[in-house]
Amino acid sequence: MTPNNPSPILQHLVEITGHRDHTRLEYSVISALRHLVGMRQVRKLEFFLVKDVTYVRPCLLLVDGEMVAPDAVPVPDSACPPLASHTELMQGLEQRSSSIQYTYADGSYRLWLPVRLDDRVVSCLEISNDSAYSAQTLDVINGIVEVYRNYQSLLDYSERDALTGLFNRKTFDEQFSRHTRDATSTTRPEDDVESHWLAVVDIDHFKQVNDRFGHVYGDEVLILVANLLKSSFRSQDRIFRFGGEEFVVLLRQATLEQARLIFNRFRTNIEQFAFPQVGRVTVSVGFTIVGYGAPVEIMGHADQALYHAKENGRNQVCYYEELMKGGQLQAADVAHDDVELF
Ligand code: GH3
Ligand code: MG
Ligand code: MG
Repeated sequence: MTPNNPSPILQHLVEITGHRDHTRLEYSVISALRHLVGMRQVRKLEFFLVKDVTYVRPCLLLVDGEMVAPDAVPVPDSACPPLASHTELMQGLEQRSSSIQYTYADGSYRLWLPVRLDDRVVSCLEISNDSAYSAQTLDVINGIVEVYRNYQSLLDYSERDALTGLFNRKTFDEQFSRHTRDATSTTRPEDDVESHWLAVVDIDHFKQVNDRFGHVYGDEVLILVANLLKSSFRSQDRIFRFGGEEFVVLLRQATLEQARLIFNRFRTNIEQFAFPQVGRVTVSVGFTIVGYGAPVEIMGHADQALYHAKENGRNQVCYYEELMKGGQLQAADVAHDDVELF
């Protein structure tokens, strides 16, 4: 190796750390591993909790040595197996191993490399090969994956809001424009087929909470609302803290009736929760369909529906397309200030 001819490992490290996006990061990691050590199949396994049971959502990244595009539609929660069905992986995770290997009776080999965030296992790379790797090859894999873990945790930190741990507004802007770009070629979805939905959630009279109980209790309410958001939506959905006491939910793959039900269930969860000291808190929600129009327009629709909810008594969920159909809203180029900022 001369200074003008860096080693392939160095070249891959430069490529891996040049990304600001999880998907591209994962692909450059898999691409590096494929060139440096070779493998038959790679999946990313995402872990999520439902009522204290951990489930596994698989996503194929490499098949028969070839990279594959990520699925545009994630495997829904209901089709994901529990972690308990992956016995060897579960035992390794319980022992807090950073690398778990297993060779099956037919000779096929599996290597799992868990990724932890804040001491919690959030995902895992699963490498399948026809035979086990040598100790030297394992060193290369572990080194590359360690860089991936460090970089992933930096990326994750930059994507989240420090107070609530939810995704921040910058992340929303990036993720949402990707969703709408993906959807521009499709025609407007019908109400009874599954599509994506965008909701804006705003705490009612939150200024009064601050004024009466102080900012520390105000912050506590924001954290508890964020926790209720996390427990009220499915892992395939995405939740963002958009600004002060405003949150955005991207509900994926649901019919209109399911969306309405899920948003109302969340609204009720908030209404029924006893906030320490503060007592009762309510939220208003405006939602709209995602799948046609520019991001700013879709956001404007959800915002207009939220405005309507606020003007008509708060603590309710309003649906933009229904308000438009009923003549309760007029089409507007831009709704209130938030949209201009967006
Ligand atoms: P509405 O029902 O119309 O939404 O009334 P509101 O009082 O909730 O709305 P308004 O926008 O007037 O007030 C929002 C308040 O949120 C004002 C601001 O002080 C407070 N706020 C914004 N960010 C934070 C934060 O990070 N922590 C705390 N404690 N308060 C915040
Ligand atoms: Mg408010
Ligand atoms: Mg607000």
